[in-house]
Amino acid sequence: MHINTKCVQSGYTPRNGEPRVVPIAQSTTFKYDTAENMGNLFDLKESGFFYTRLANPTVDAVEKKLADLEGGVGAVITSSGQAASFFSVFNICGAGGHVICSSAIYGGTYNLFHKTMREMGIDFTFVPPDITEDELRSAFRENTKCVFGETISNPSLDIIDIEMFARVAHEHGVPFIIDNTFATPVNCRPIEFGADIVTHSTTKYIDGHACAVGGVVIDSGNFNWDNGKFPALTTPDESYHGVVYTKDFGRAAYITKMRTHLMRDIGAMASPQNAFYTNLGLETLFLRVERHVSNAEKVAAYLSEREKDGSITWVNYPSLPGNKYYELARKYMPNGTCGVISFGVRGGREGAVKFMEGLRLAAIVTHVADARTCVLHPASTTHRQMNDAELAAAGVSPDLIRFSVGIEYVGDIIADIDNALREI
Ligand SMILES: *Cc1c(COP(=O)(O)O)cnc(C)c1O
Repeated sequence: MHINTKCVQSGYTPRNGEPRVVPIAQSTTFKYDTAENMGNLFDLKESGFFYTRLANPTVDAVEKKLADLEGGVGAVITSSGQAASFFSVFNICGAGGHVICSSAIYGGTYNLFHKTMREMGIDFTFVPPDITEDELRSAFRENTKCVFGETISNPSLDIIDIEMFARVAHEHGVPFIIDNTFATPVNCRPIEFGADIVTHSTTKYIDGHACAVGGVVIDSGNFNWDNGKFPALTTPDESYHGVVYTKDFGRAAYITKMRTHLMRDIGAMASPQNAFYTNLGLETLFLRVERHVSNAEKVAAYLSEREKDGSITWVNYPSLPGNKYYELARKYMPNGTCGVISFGVRGGREGAVKFMEGLRLAAIVTHVADARTCVLHPASTTHRQMNDAELAAAGVSPDLIRFSVGIEYVGDIIADIDNALREI
């Protein structure tokens, strides 16, 4: 079925007399008739629910929908996008491992990798998102376990060449993990271009209403783990009765290990209530993304028009003709990219602050990618821990304004910008 239909219908099919809408199974535990039933679940011999940290019917429905939307064999939803990013890497890379990561990533992911996961003994090499194929090859080491990037980076809006990153990762026997938060599966399905693992902060467009923090990891099922680099997947897991994930779970090896090992031990699970909200968001994702894109394209055109009178100093939107990533955007996202635009205003850092205070409709919030238009100055908020060199590597200039175009009437959004520009 078409992605639009999947957004509405996938993941949950009620049987005779059951609720039409995914019910919220607000229960930590599930009852069984015999101890043997329960034992089989623990041994992973049967599938079923026994404890909500590992699986829950509401959570399960949302996981199935997200796996279907991205074209994967399975998914794990998490308490946040941060947890999803952590799980996606840590599932296959522990102390002594090495990760190659695009430098154009979300600030929170950068902290997680550069600070916390380094403290766990994992090494990271950050490479520019527009790196050449040969340069990317030279970043690999003996202990490299994966490559990580974002489809459209937050907030710098660089587009990663998915096929090239996947190809080079595969040459070196490791998977390509991609954070697809900004594109959403409506505009890009990275697995179709060779990505192996897809993550999202569902907090953004997928929820879309700014009411539930969440994340997801989706396994394409396409990567062959049996190449000697991933013993945790190909040799017995003594903590789970000697299960060998690749042998016992085939294409779902990676995602099964994530649930039975990482979710069991770390417990960053999505609550059933939040899973329900995430699903409500998913039902309208297709509709909303279409409107975000058409609004953002009009706002970007307006902003580039205002470059002529000097009110706007630069505009970055990958779907804008002339943008550095225009061709890659057309290739990977022919129906449009996202609702987020970045730009600079006259007056640099101070001009940016004045502009933001002049906005009435667009709210200043530490959020992005929801139904309401909002605005953020990354250099003084999400990226404030970075020094100038790190900011530059992440593609964030001190005057950068990240403008997240909502689904309101576009004429009102443009009028709001027009008014605020007069304040500078
Ligand atoms: C927000 C965001 C995250 C982190 O997600 P949370 O849900 O806030 O934990 C990760 N990646 C990207 C691209 C994001 O925008």
